[in-house]
Amino acid sequence: MRLAALTFHDVLPDGHQPSPHGDDFYAVRATEMEQLLSHLRKRHYRTVNSKAFRAWQQGQGALPERTVVFTFDDGYTSHLEYAASLLIRYRFTGTFFVNPEMIGRPGYLTWEQLRKLVFLGMEVGSHGLTHRPLTQLTREELDHELVQSKRRLEEQLGIPVHAIAAPGGFWNGTVAEAAKRAGYDAMWISTIGMNGKETNPLALRRVVVRSPLDVDRIASLVEGQPSALWWASSQQVAIRLLKRTLGVYWYERLKRRLVPEA
Ligand SMILES: [Zn+2]
Repeated sequence: MRLAALTFHDVLPDGHQPSPHGDDFYAVRATEMEQLLSHLRKRHYRTVNSKAFRAWQQGQGALPERTVVFTFDDGYTSHLEYAASLLIRYRFTGTFFVNPEMIGRPGYLTWEQLRKLVFLGMEVGSHGLTHRPLTQLTREELDHELVQSKRRLEEQLGIPVHAIAAPGGFWNGTVAEAAKRAGYDAMWISTIGMNGKETNPLALRRVVVRSPLDVDRIASLVEGQPSALWWASSQQVAIRLLKRTLGVYWYERLKRRLVPEA
């Protein structure tokens, strides 16, 4: 059995104003997210969070055939305003990856709002301390990002933090080693694919969804249909080439114009 994991970023209401942090490239609209959840619910999908996924990977318990993992990156206020309530309405759950340094900034969740997410049954994990690409850091900086983000989340929320999502999907073996050293047992990245029991828990695959969201295509992906995975991979190859050619700095500034519509 293999599971897909989806990555959401900002979730916008219809007719939204641009978000204060000014990066809605990866955003989806709340109505699109609801269409996807409704579709998956009708197909009898269930969700697990990162922790339950890892328990399954380690042989603790079985999962229903149709199971998917929902992850949310960056800690936007919309995750409490829209995402969490939609998940609850459709009896789904999610894992929310946040950067302690961004908490409380305009457009981002506050600690109080994060505690509410936890109270609502959502899992919270680290997304690094500052959202810097982890592959660009020295060993000391890398350890600092991973250790301090985990510690601050655990102190502020009073929960253990076992999972991390690599900011921007920037990942390599050094980053995985550092995550292990810092005490994480799951690292989610942005490589397209499904996750089985044999998948490296420090390189778990995810598919980023963004607007305009094609519900049928995403549903095919969740079902692991090869053509849907191929399509998503080809998009990712284009993005990876751009990142490599332009470097992180220019990619982040130009992606809006260069990456084809999903
Ligand atoms: Zn991010």
